[in-house]
Amino acid sequence: MTLPNDLKPSTIAAQANGAIDLPSGGVVPPLQPSTTFLRDEDYALVNPANIYSRDNSDIVRIAENVLARLENAEEALLFPSGMAAIAAMFRTLPNGATVVVQSGIYWGTTKWLRDFAARRQITLHEVDAADASALEKACATHKPDLVFIETPSNPWLKTVDIAHAATCAHAAGGLLAVDSTAATPVLQRPLEHGADIVMHSATKAINGHSDVLAGVLATSSPAAKIWTDIKADRHDAGAVIGPFEAWLLLRGMRTLPLRVERMCRSTQTIAEYLATHPKVADVYYPGLASHPGHEIAARQMQGGFGCLMSFLVKGGAEEALAAVGKLKLFHRATSLGGVESLVEHRHTIEPHTGIPESLIRVSVGIEDAGDLIADLGQALG
Ligand SMILES: *Cc1c(COP(=O)(O)O)cnc(C)c1O
Repeated sequence: MTLPNDLKPSTIAAQANGAIDLPSGGVVPPLQPSTTFLRDEDYALVNPANIYSRDNSDIVRIAENVLARLENAEEALLFPSGMAAIAAMFRTLPNGATVVVQSGIYWGTTKWLRDFAARRQITLHEVDAADASALEKACATHKPDLVFIETPSNPWLKTVDIAHAATCAHAAGGLLAVDSTAATPVLQRPLEHGADIVMHSATKAINGHSDVLAGVLATSSPAAKIWTDIKADRHDAGAVIGPFEAWLLLRGMRTLPLRVERMCRSTQTIAEYLATHPKVADVYYPGLASHPGHEIAARQMQGGFGCLMSFLVKGGAEEALAAVGKLKLFHRATSLGGVESLVEHRHTIEPHTGIPESLIRVSVGIEDAGDLIADLGQALG
């Protein structure tokens, strides 16, 4: 059973796109852990859709269908982590290819891509893609096969105009892929702005409960060579998500629009509070009118600006770590998008990437915004 075509994200998510279990009458689809599937006396598959679980899993297909609908994509593919999704995509590039990647994005992506490009004779150009003319110039000069951006970016919250990036990539004969993790498909649908592939770490807000690693790629052109190559890579190389993880992900996604709505509202309130705080030097959040990417974000996002925010305390590492150490509600832990608020001193984690020592990154959960503000207030002093 699939839901009608004209429904809003909250309806699609709450009903898991119509997934139920008719044999049992359950309103929740079952978790089938079997790795292999029966053939009958004539050697025909009992269920023609299922042979072996590296290739076939009902619960994975159900979760992919929900994601595809939320993203307004033709097809979505799940992977066992966000990095596995990114790696599967870049592995489709031939040796000697050229890539333009946004600078200052999720460090795990940058690090893996640098190593991979070096091994594969791929020419990598790292560009501040939030600077539209720099991106345009890089595409025109280097003629990349693939352009990879992340918007809003982690941890700088830079925003890239997706439609403009797509125009630049396509004019150069390349494709555009967008890491949309910080936005979720509820707030931003890059395929509608011309991107060829959208990627998420579903570990973050899509699952939302800090208990599943998952990644997703989605496209509106499933016949494109890059997509058929990605599918073949997943099938043959085996970067598949397990049924239990897919089942948990599906459960987490039922409340995705609800969680995102609450988190956006709280993050906006907290960003406005921090922006006027005497101990705070600067706040990076695209929901603030003062943010350099606010207009772009307002144009290509709907319903809010996400749960990720960074700010600079006055002083340096000592002041930042003192504030982080005093927080009682925000867990000191990496990651983002969970129902519980997290705080991170990025410079401690990646001191070599130019992150300011005074920068504190925050992922706002679904707790009461007043409680969170009181905690930040006591910690900043
Ligand atoms: C976490 C994250 C990733 C990597 O995803 P994993 O699920 O941890 O492998 C990629 N991009 C962004 C923006 C992220 O926040």
